[in-house]
Amino acid sequence: MTSAAFAELDAAFAEHGPDLAADPPVAVGHRVVHGGTRFREATRIDDEVLATLEELTPLAPLHNPANIVGIRAAMAHFPDIPHVAIFDTAFHRTLPPAAYTYAVPREWQERYDVRRYGFHGTSHEYVSGRVADLVGRSDIAIVVLHLGNGCSACAVLDGQSVETSMGMTPLEGLVMGTRCGDLDPAIPFHLARTTGMAAADLDRTLNKDSGLKGLTGVNDFRTVAERAEAGDAAAAAAIDVVTHRLIKYVGAYAAVMGRLDAIAFTGGIGEHSPLLRARVLGSLGVLGVVLDESANAAARGEGLLSAPQSRVAAYVVPTNEELQIARESVALVGR
Ligand code: AMP
Repeated sequence: MTSAAFAELDAAFAEHGPDLAADPPVAVGHRVVHGGTRFREATRIDDEVLATLEELTPLAPLHNPANIVGIRAAMAHFPDIPHVAIFDTAFHRTLPPAAYTYAVPREWQERYDVRRYGFHGTSHEYVSGRVADLVGRSDIAIVVLHLGNGCSACAVLDGQSVETSMGMTPLEGLVMGTRCGDLDPAIPFHLARTTGMAAADLDRTLNKDSGLKGLTGVNDFRTVAERAEAGDAAAAAAIDVVTHRLIKYVGAYAAVMGRLDAIAFTGGIGEHSPLLRARVLGSLGVLGVVLDESANAAARGEGLLSAPQSRVAAYVVPTNEELQIARESVALVGR
C-alpha cells in the first residue's frame, strides 16, 4: 500500500511539478502525533529515533504505529535526504507544570508518563504566528480554536503555548467529531459496572462513537448544522453543547493568561462555519468581543471577524500544517 502511495506521489510531481530531478527535495518532514517527553522539538530521524518512537507507542497506540510505517516507507523511497519528525506535541513543551499535571498519584507521572501533552501543536504554532503577523506584534495573548474533526483550544502567550485542551491523549477537551472531550472520569467505571462493558469497548466508544456522532448519529459538522437549520432538535442541542464548551474554554484561557488580545478560528469547522463562529464570538461580550456579523458571514480564507471597537481581535486563519512542517524541516537541516 505504501509503494502505491509513493507511485501516486511520483505521478503527482511528474504532472504538476516541481521536477524532482532538476529541483530535488532537501528533506522529508513527517508529522508525528506523540513525542512524549522525549521529543520536544523537530528531530532528525535515525534508527535510534525510530526505536524511541516505537517505545512511545503505548502513549499513542492509534497514531504512532501508522506514523512509523509511513516514515520507514518514505526513508526507503528517499534514502539520500534527511527525514525530520515534527511532533504534534512539541509546541506544548512550554506548558507549565500547573497546566500539565493531573491530580493523580505522583508515581503515575513518574512511572507511566501520565501527564497532559497537548496536540495539534503544528497548527496552533502556525496559526498563532499568523495572528501575531496580522496584529503586528508577538507579545500578545491569543486563544486558537482548531475545530476540525479533531478539536482543540490553545492559549498562546507571547508566542508560547501555556494551556491547551487535549491532554495525555487527544480525547480530552472540546466536543469533537467522534470524541467526547471532557468527561467525568467516573463515567467509564459506572458503565463498566452497570453494563459489563470492557475497557476496549469504552475506549472505542469514547473515541469513535461519541462527540457529534454520539449526540446526532453523524460526525460531520456541516450535516449537523444543516439538520439544525431544518429543525432537528438533537442537532440543535449538539451545537449548543459544542458552543457551550468553547465559550467555557475561551473564558478560562483568558483568565489563565490574565488577558486576551486575539481569538483565531481554524480547521474545517473554524474556517467554514460562520454559524459556529458567530455563536461563540457573540457570547464573549464579557471579554469585550464585538463581532462584525457581515465580515463573519463574508469571510473566505484569512480575515478579521471583529468590529473596530472590539477589545479582542477575532480572526479566521486557514491552518497550514504542511508549510509549518516544511519550514521546521528546512530550518533543522539548514538548507
Ligand atoms: P477537518 O478535520 O479540519 O478537515 O474538518 C472537518 C470538519 O469540518 C467536518 O466536521 C466538516 O463537516 C467541517 N466542515 C467542512 N466544511 C464545512 C462547512 N462549509 N461548513 C461547516 N462545517 C464544515
